[in-house]
Amino acid sequence: AKTDASAKKYVIATDTVFKPFEYTDASGNFVGIDVDILAAIAEDQGFEYELRSLGFDASIAACKSGQADAMIAGASITDERQKGGWIFSDAYYTATQSVAVKKGSSIKSLDDLKGSTVAVKTGTKGADYAEELKDKYSLKLTYFEDSPTMYQSVTGGQCAACFEDTPIMAASIKDGNLDMEIVEGSENEGAGYGMATFSADKQELLDKFNAGLANIKANGKYDEIIAKYLG
Ligand code: GLN
Repeated sequence: AKTDASAKKYVIATDTVFKPFEYTDASGNFVGIDVDILAAIAEDQGFEYELRSLGFDASIAACKSGQADAMIAGASITDERQKGGWIFSDAYYTATQSVAVKKGSSIKSLDDLKGSTVAVKTGTKGADYAEELKDKYSLKLTYFEDSPTMYQSVTGGQCAACFEDTPIMAASIKDGNLDMEIVEGSENEGAGYGMATFSADKQELLDKFNAGLANIKANGKYDEIIAKYLG
């Protein structure tokens, strides 16, 4: 770690529970792929940072208001977002979104969603996906600030389905013993995950992230992190 008091300490925002990218483990440590990738890249590039676990939508707000320099929260790189002012690093992972229902639900395909009340997480690509299907299937959307409460609305029966990134849904169902299952054929096209910011003057941080990402991919550290969480 640098001792130079003038060294810039970046504030980086992240989600609260987005397993296995960020979550609190059984020992109370905040861990995950995003957490480890950021630590490895910061070490490689020699920068200091403070990670703030705020939630996905709250991370966007923190970056936009200047309270955070950037966010790393499994944020999907999309054309729509880039047109809307998001600036992304290179992609460090790729994921689709899919739909999950309570185990044994009569909903077996997207068509079966017709007329349902569905749960989404505010500001996410899963929410965009549900909004795209809204008219076609006459969906009623209910918005949640975090993934666990969104899942609870499905297992508790208030919502018929939820929309979430496929690897997160799969890990949460498996590790959390959630009484849910992914609807077959519900995956969308997906997108890469990148570190994100909303201000061109943060490009320096994204450049460091990209350089560090290339290095940890070349030296095996990246593969080690992915294997640790996704085995
Ligand atoms: N990948 C999704 C998105 O970017 C979800 C991210 C999240 O919920 N942390 O919108």
